[in-house]
Parts: sequence; C-alpha cells; structure tokens
Amino acid sequence: MYYIIAHYHELALKGRNRPLLVDRLVQNLRLALCGIGHCHIESLAGRLRISLKDASRWSVMKPRLESTFGIANFAPALYVSSNIEMLSAAVCESIQGLPLHTFRVTAKRADKSYPLTSVDVNRIVGAAVVERTGAQVILGNPELTIHIEIMGAGAYYYWERFQGPGGLPVGMSGKVACLLSGGIDSPVAAYRMMKRGCKAVFIHFHGHPFVSRASAEKAEELAQRLTRHQYYSRLYLVPFGDIQRQIVVTAPAPLRIVLYRRMMVRIAEEVGRTNECWALATGDSLGQVASQTAGNITVVDEAATIPFLRPLIGMDKVEITEHAQRIGTYETSIQPDQDCCSLFTPPNPSTRANLEEIRRAESLLDVHGLVKQAMEKIELKEFTFP
Ligand code: ATP
Ligand code: MG
Repeated sequence: MYYIIAHYHELALKGRNRPLLVDRLVQNLRLALCGIGHCHIESLAGRLRISLKDASRWSVMKPRLESTFGIANFAPALYVSSNIEMLSAAVCESIQGLPLHTFRVTAKRADKSYPLTSVDVNRIVGAAVVERTGAQVILGNPELTIHIEIMGAGAYYYWERFQGPGGLPVGMSGKVACLLSGGIDSPVAAYRMMKRGCKAVFIHFHGHPFVSRASAEKAEELAQRLTRHQYYSRLYLVPFGDIQRQIVVTAPAPLRIVLYRRMMVRIAEEVGRTNECWALATGDSLGQVASQTAGNITVVDEAATIPFLRPLIGMDKVEITEHAQRIGTYETSIQPDQDCCSLFTPPNPSTRANLEEIRRAESLLDVHGLVKQAMEKIELKEFTFP
C-alpha cells in the first residue's frame, strides 16, 4: 500500500466547525479522487491519510489534490513502525542513493504518549543519517527536509511535499450565484468564492441571436474548467438580447449599462433562489469601467436583496490577470467574443447614475415580466469532474 499524508490549515479549522470541515474535505476528496482506482481516505489525528493500491496512479492523483480547496500540503509517505531503531533504519534505507549534502529531520508526534520527544527523534534519526550518508545537518535551508509524523505504533516519513491550494473545502460556506461573463475577471471572482468554501452556481447572460454564441461557449468552457474544484456545476445561460432591446427603446442611453446590470442582478437572484444561494458574486473591481464606479456600484447594489459580493473589488487588472493565468482560465477568457454588454453599448455611459432617474426609467419597463420571461427561456448546462 502507498500512502499520501495531506494536511489542512489547522488555524482555519479551530473550534466547533472543525469536524464539519474535516468531514466535508474527506467527502470532497472522495469526489476528487473518483476513478483513481483503489484508494481510501481517512482522517487521522489532525491530518488525512490516503491509501493507494497502485502507485502508478499518483501522477493522476497529484493535480487533483492540487485543486482540492482545504488542503494546505500533501506528500507521498512511507510507513514504518514508530520504534525508533526501526524508524531510523527505514529512513536511512529510503534516502540511500539520494545526492545528499545537507539535510534536517523534522519530526512531529500526533500522539504525545510516544516515549521520545520530537527533538529526540530529530537527533536520533539525524545521527543515523549522518552516519550512513556523511551528509551534514543544517537547520536553516538544507537540501532535504525529512519529515516524520509519529502516530501511535506507526510513523509516516517523507521528504517531498507539495503545496495544496489552501482555503476551505467547497460546500462549507453554502452556495453563491456567480455571474460569469466570458471575460478575465469573473472566473477569478468565482474561484475566490469557491476557495472560501462556496459552491458556485454560474450564470451567463448572452446576446444570442443578436450576436454569435461565442460568449456562451466561453462561459461553458470556463465553467467546465472551474468544475475541477467543485466536481459538479450548473451553468445557466440567459438570453438577454431582448431585454437589452427593451431597455434601449425606453431608457436614456447613458443609463443603459446600469439598467442592464440591475436586470442581471434580479435574474441572477431568481436563479439563486431556486438554487438556495445566499449571495451573488461578480468580478467587479473598483473603477475599472463605467459600470464599476463607486456611484454605479451603489445603484446596482440597490437592486439586490441578498448580499452582493465582489471578491476582486480591491484588485487591479494586472493582479487579476496574473491570477487568471495561475488558475488556467486566462487563455479561454481572452478568446474574442461578443459580450452582450457590447451589444447596444451607449457611447457615453453614465459613471454616476442617479437612483431616482434609474427608478423612473425602470417604471417604464415591465421589470417583473422581463425577469419572468428570462426565467422561462433560461437554459441549464451541467458539468462534472473528473
Ligand atoms: P469580466 O472580465 O468578468 O467580464 P469586466 O472587466 O469585463 O469583467 P464588466 O463587463 O463590467 O467587467 O462586468 C462586471 C461583472 O459583471 C463581471 O465580472 C461579471 O461578474 C458580471 N457580468 C458582466 N457581463 C456579464 C454577462 N454577460 N454574463 C454574466 N455576468 C456578467
Ligand atoms: Mg466583461
């Protein structure tokens, strides 16, 4: 049997929520590792142990662990008795052949009833490695850190450890309706929400048949990409062109953008309601474009009756773009499309919409009827991972 020891951020897991979080992480890992072949996940003394029958599946497992929120780090580990002589011998045996000049041993005891302290274990195993390999102990920045985790009668040891994405297990923080355009920002915003434990329900507004389906296709590709973090996703495609046309014929041009946004908010909320979402989330960043000025954000917010989250509000475009590259959504986002908002965009959108004016413009629209009409024409796509 091969083992992987995974750690979660213990600080994030303090208090009464801890068992809930660990259960959720185990549950998510079971989904993430689906189809890997015989593998078993257990929560053991503050960490998770994954047992794997076929070591050749590691290359498939590794990227999946790297996308599982809640995991701080993970390492393929070897198992041996925690008897100190046997442990020392096993460590020496395993690292033989590694080109090794400097190293340190970092032991941890999950079980404080072990007869030796962690410092004792470091010293004894360290001395054995020095004797066997001639390598030198350096505490600062050694070539190799040999980690030992003692748990009862057994010990796990490893020297190669990988970073997980951190965050909280998806599902811990409820569901959020994420407005997913085909752009760079909104997939990053959805990712940030998922990383804080939210399950994302995706909503995309498209201008088809007035424009091509390109933006919807990008939204599908982005939803599929993000599904690796939550295993199952719903994407709602909302035909928005007709609604925009109605706004265009009734409202003054400078108000259009804000009116579109307020309609998006109402429809997204309706979708959110049917999916038990507690909040909306968008990729707005303060001041980036006309619809994201302080004044317009205030007026768009007013149309929402549930919390309206903007996880990127304080980030600039360079930071968001780098983030998009890191999470693998950038290449899709930069594909050309015709966003529904570029359809009927006024040449001089207002950057300080006045709520009274907006309300007056909306009084000429059948707001409820338009939401209802959108809900009737909505299309649902589902995605799964793996
Ligand atoms: P993005 O890169 O996310 O498109 P952007 O800088 O282009 O952002 P806007 O077009 O003003 O900014 O959109 C702001 C936010 O509104 C988006 O991040 C997204 O959450 C939401 N949004 C805009 N257009 C759509 C759309 N067609 N469908 C779904 N959500 C949208
Ligand atoms: Mg956009």
